[in-house]
Amino acid sequence: MKILVIGSGGREHAIADAIAQNPRIKQIYVAPGNGGTASLATNVPITADDVRGLFDFARQERIDLTFVGPEVPLSLGIVDLFQQDGLKIVGPTSSNARLESSKEFAKQFFKQHRIPTADFWPFHSAAEAYSHLDSMRFPAVVKADGLAAGKGVVVAETREQARAAVRDFMETGTLGKAGTTVVIEEFLTGEEASFMVFADGEAAQPMVMAQDHKRRFDGDKGPNTGGMGAYSIDTILSPEQREEVMRSIIRPTLKNAVNFSGILYAGLMMTANGPKIIEYNTRFGDPETQVVLPRLKTDLLDVLFDIAEHRLESRKLEWDAEPSATIALVASGYPGKIENGKRVTGLERATRQDGVKIYHAGTRMEDGNVFTAGGRVLNVTARGATLTQALDRAYAACEMIEFEGKDYRRDIGRKGLAKKR
Ligand code: AMP
Repeated sequence: MKILVIGSGGREHAIADAIAQNPRIKQIYVAPGNGGTASLATNVPITADDVRGLFDFARQERIDLTFVGPEVPLSLGIVDLFQQDGLKIVGPTSSNARLESSKEFAKQFFKQHRIPTADFWPFHSAAEAYSHLDSMRFPAVVKADGLAAGKGVVVAETREQARAAVRDFMETGTLGKAGTTVVIEEFLTGEEASFMVFADGEAAQPMVMAQDHKRRFDGDKGPNTGGMGAYSIDTILSPEQREEVMRSIIRPTLKNAVNFSGILYAGLMMTANGPKIIEYNTRFGDPETQVVLPRLKTDLLDVLFDIAEHRLESRKLEWDAEPSATIALVASGYPGKIENGKRVTGLERATRQDGVKIYHAGTRMEDGNVFTAGGRVLNVTARGATLTQALDRAYAACEMIEFEGKDYRRDIGRKGLAKKR
């Protein structure tokens, strides 16, 4: 069997690694891949936004199933294109991907279907947005409507900060077209949690929970990033809370979207008034995938075929009870300016440690050596009998790996340790 995975992050390395466990695999391609996927798959030099190039490749190579990692090709309609030609692909159509690619669309959808979320006001002109800010209480949240790789959300403590965000998005145009519409939101308080489900157009199967760490520095300080680490334990939400999320958020979403197929990822705020949806992603989270997939005992490829062939309902997913944690090793300037091309050493020893898996993110392989090629360089993942053990193992492995400018957060999972296990 030939499988194509689209993307180049730690998420895609974890997906390719899980798919590689399937005994029927003949060949895995990753487009464009990274230094880690190169060792278990064939990297194909086609970027994730080159939807036509990916389609031609899949047809030419007679790929049996394509899996889409990132959001951009989904929003560009890669699933629609493949399906029109009868090629098997897992992911939502561009119309369903709007739940992620347009915040205004998503919020109107929540309102229409009474899905609990923060109050919101969409604006198509800066003047109207400023005028609304005059009557608001702070903090408030200013969001660019379109895809912005995590840079489109500003939690504004003051009116001035909110005005500056509106100016950046709508007048200066820092995010291009993504910022021509802005959504202003009520600020919610509570604990955040990531809840992902597999969906096949009708049935949905929830995954184990995860929590990520978006801020750059310890203590949740500093700028937002793509994610500095994550952990997965079963006590992030109680069984009753999980059922409440399925009942009030996930099921009404899937019922009202038209044949949503692929991965639906809910970013939740557990407020005093129950769970509310902050945002949907219509694909696996990064780095949540790196802690969730190592706990999946069921063969991932079987699940992906269940989705593509609409028979997820009868699948019984099995999960490992052991917690997992992942630490992002980043280049020191991240998320700002960074230097690439630093040689990475110590990977072999780190990989040999009990329970440890290293997923590459921004790396490239050259003559058997690994070099940095991005802000988030590696995801050091470990499992353990307890979350403490998983974190100890991951941090010990982080120490074994070296590259110039290596940095990471030292407090990943601390909130999880405070929960009973
Ligand atoms: P998003 O990209 O919409 O998930 O937003 C990124 C982060 O901003 C979230 O993970 C939250 O920490 C924060 N955030 C977004 N919307 C809200 C809100 N309405 N209230 C409080 N925090 C929010």
